[in-house]
Amino acid sequence: MASGPSVEELLQRNAERVKTFQPIPSLSEISNLPPNQRLPMPKIFIVSCCDNRVDPWDILGLEKWDAVVTRGAAGRMASQFSNLLFLDHVLNFTDVMIIHHTDCSAQLFGNDGVCQVLAERAPDASREVESLKLPGFEDLERSVQEDVQLVKSSPLVRKELAARTKGFVYDLKTGEVKPVPEASSVLVK
Ligand SMILES: [Zn+2]
Repeated sequence: MASGPSVEELLQRNAERVKTFQPIPSLSEISNLPPNQRLPMPKIFIVSCCDNRVDPWDILGLEKWDAVVTRGAAGRMASQFSNLLFLDHVLNFTDVMIIHHTDCSAQLFGNDGVCQVLAERAPDASREVESLKLPGFEDLERSVQEDVQLVKSSPLVRKELAARTKGFVYDLKTGEVKPVPEASSVLVK
């Protein structure tokens, strides 16, 4: 596999970018704009995998202000939950979309190998290793259902937002984002 750029090369790219950069309005500048010129605030919170093959902006045809997109391994909600709560306080979301995908490395590799390496690296930290919410999963639809349930079962999430939290699978071969039926009783780990 070809190797990517070094950090130094990325900083050189940034130096090039700066030459044509246009300043971005600060939050106070935005809030001082007249109402008809204010920017729309994103109302949909999207969680997806950080796999570079999975780009929600492309997949869903998102425009700049349409959504807040957070990405992490497998698109698991556990690692984004505090972001959801914090940003919902600021932005008052209407919807949450949780999108996992076919051929995800978190399904292929699972958590056991990671736990084993961590346990060998830090033999005295077994409690920390056990408490980690690692993203690996065995069943694709079930992982989506668990993550939806995580939101819906939390007393910390606004009821309206919990009700409009939905799970999806993105198929890498067809490009389709398909809804995953909600499980009536999923055991959330
Ligand atoms: Zn993935």
